[in-house]
Amino acid sequence: MIIILKPNATEADVAPMRAALAARGLILQDITGETTRMIGLAGDTSTVSEDQIYGYPFVERIMRVQEPYKLAGRKFHPTDTVVEALGSGTTQASFIGGGHFAVIAGPCSVESEEQVLTIAREVKAAGAKFLRGGAFKPRTSPYAFKGLGLDGLELLRIAREKTGLPIVTEIMSSDYLDAFAAHVDVIQIGARNMQNFTLLRQVGELKKPVLLKRGLSSTIEELLMSAEYIMSGGAKQVILCERGIRTFETATRNTLDLSAVPVLKAKSHLPVVIDPSHATGYNHLVEPMALAAVAAGADGLMIEVHNNPGAALCDGAQSITPEVFTKLMEKIGKIRDAIK
Ligand code: PEP
Ligand code: MN
Repeated sequence: MIIILKPNATEADVAPMRAALAARGLILQDITGETTRMIGLAGDTSTVSEDQIYGYPFVERIMRVQEPYKLAGRKFHPTDTVVEALGSGTTQASFIGGGHFAVIAGPCSVESEEQVLTIAREVKAAGAKFLRGGAFKPRTSPYAFKGLGLDGLELLRIAREKTGLPIVTEIMSSDYLDAFAAHVDVIQIGARNMQNFTLLRQVGELKKPVLLKRGLSSTIEELLMSAEYIMSGGAKQVILCERGIRTFETATRNTLDLSAVPVLKAKSHLPVVIDPSHATGYNHLVEPMALAAVAAGADGLMIEVHNNPGAALCDGAQSITPEVFTKLMEKIGKIRDAIK
């Protein structure tokens, strides 16, 4: 970190800041140019608050040299993280990251035992490695279907038991941390809770795999800082998920930021998945964006699949049928072969 001082700053002004920073174990190095005076800070600056430094009236500007995310960043962890989940009754775990490609598929919401079981069996047969399904749904309208709650978790547990697939499902409240710790293989933090810092920390403390979705209007750095929150709680296995961001465009539900794949993979060792369903909002756009994501180097995909999209209680328009999903999986295999 480099602190640039205003030209009129006197040594008496700067002394209290120097003392405060030195007391934190940082090494201060003066850099004096022809017109600019700077102080370089060496050591662990990740806990230095820029806000606080800007509180000194003689500070003109601060430049960060190091990224503020140490645990999620690639600098201190150059090798790719492989996220692993066991599922049930199977000795073969599902992996994602570090060369392991995996598709997470299933309905937007768990609606009934028959629905979730039918879809789980079909997506597994097509090659999905994880089952997704919402039991707690973050809906814009308080009158919309908000999921079956704990009953939905129980149905996911049954689907996990019957298919062996590890389950990925969203937590919305810390009230259910114990239930998620007991029954969920990969805990999803949805886009709307990406900056619910208390929840991030609490979920991180469970030390289970987490799938973290990018917030609707969040930058890549903010996404990585949220991963940092989870990891600072103790979890090591975090999957980053790009699911489209808010832009001025209205032709699609969100705008898929496909460049997030190579950008995140350069900055972080964590696996990166693309969710073309929420990113586009329309079933016919899922396939092209899924294939593009694979070509761009994503470690996986999260795709909404419903056996009867027209009757889905949530996100039917963007859900593809198991038949379409099966064909898509074949094309994904071809793209993967082509870019090997
Ligand atoms: C979901 O995956 O079910 C979901 C609600 O997604 P997002 O948080 O990306 O909107
Ligand atoms: Mn959905």
